Amino acid sequence: MGLTGIQIFKLLPKTNCKECGVPTCLAFAMNLAAGKAELSSCPYVSEEAKAMLSEAAAPPIRPVTIGSGENVVKIGGETVLFRHEKTFVNKPGLAILLSDAMPEAEVGARLKRFKELKYERVGLILRPEMIAVKNESGDAGKFEALVRKVKSETDAALILISNSVDALTAGVKASADRVPLIYAATDGNSEALAKLAQENKCPLAIKADSLETLSQLSAKLTAAGLKDLVLDSGSRTARKAFEDQVFIRRAALNQKNRSLGFPTITFPCEMTNDSMKEALIASAFVAKYAGIIVLSDLQGESLFPLLVERLNIYTDPQRPMMMQQGIYPIGNPGEESPVLITTNFSLTYFIVSGEVESSRVPSWLLVMDTEGLSVLTAWAAGKFVGDAIGAFVKKSGITEKVKHRRVIIPGAVAAVSGDLEEELGAGWEVKIGPREAAHITAYLKVSA
Ligand code: SF4
Repeated sequence: MGLTGIQIFKLLPKTNCKECGVPTCLAFAMNLAAGKAELSSCPYVSEEAKAMLSEAAAPPIRPVTIGSGENVVKIGGETVLFRHEKTFVNKPGLAILLSDAMPEAEVGARLKRFKELKYERVGLILRPEMIAVKNESGDAGKFEALVRKVKSETDAALILISNSVDALTAGVKASADRVPLIYAATDGNSEALAKLAQENKCPLAIKADSLETLSQLSAKLTAAGLKDLVLDSGSRTARKAFEDQVFIRRAALNQKNRSLGFPTITFPCEMTNDSMKEALIASAFVAKYAGIIVLSDLQGESLFPLLVERLNIYTDPQRPMMMQQGIYPIGNPGEESPVLITTNFSLTYFIVSGEVESSRVPSWLLVMDTEGLSVLTAWAAGKFVGDAIGAFVKKSGITEKVKHRRVIIPGAVAAVSGDLEEELGAGWEVKIGPREAAHITAYLKVSA
């Protein structure tokens, strides 16, 4: 059970030194209990108190990291049942399945799809991150060779799947530096796999045929010192697996059940032979509440919607999606190309940049940081006004890219043009663009 704010307060130094960023130890304790502060923000907590408090401060679902380098997959760490309460934290990893019993050409084709299926959306690269390598041949050497191949050809976070401790040991030997997820400890092999996971500092998946036995196995492994566990409830029908996801999340959050306070792994690939049904099942697990979703294969028409759904579900609903402030060249612009200005609300950026692209008039698009507000909202909030835009234009570096001194502002905020001209100073010309972004194409075609 987590500690209350008062219980946490009793363990703090009570000096009210404010170094943690709040005025009193009591306020810090309350924030810690609510999950709004990190224990590490107080440098004066005793080691003894730390041990007790880190338990209280830990999220109800333990975060688990799989992989290494830039493509690290972090799962778990969730603190709410519904994303409108706060936000979901770590998006589920999407994995493609490879087997050591597959023909070489099929393995090659799947690896190719894994590497090539990437999409850019709202300035982010959306892609699958994981490869589940399955030992179906029964040959540990074959399994190890496939793990080595996958590791050398991709940056994927790996899931090593086998019923054989020997095969998993060989797979881990080939990829320990990639920190693979070992799948899966069961009642029969849990001691050997716990040892393998501990020796190689790898996370361990555990599988049982009921939630009760899963909870018991988790408690046993936790008592043996394992911390990074991933749960598989063993269900292989969409309905039961979905119910299990909800049960596990509720047990961890509402009942503070530490045995079930771990991220989960799901296998839509084992729930149907129909690829579209598989995508539908996966989409349910994106929303509720899988940590990893293993797909039988990757196809653009099913992967892209899953990636977009995942992006939407795991975007903080309380914060608008934003672009980086800066200069965005569209269509290889030159020194005489038009310079347009807009705000950094992602949707605004994509509408405006899409319109500029359609015009086929190479242009510079200046995107100004308005904390993710759209043009009119930012203007109304005083963030997209003449002096602020002028200061941004001057420091943006656009004068090094164009010879002229003309900027085009959205017609919706035409009223700021006087202040903007004043801020920019002599030699600058402010042109009023169209009121609607949808008219940018026509505007650029006519004025170019
Ligand atoms: Fe109290 Fe620690 Fe915060 Fe200082 S840093 S006010 S001791 S909680």
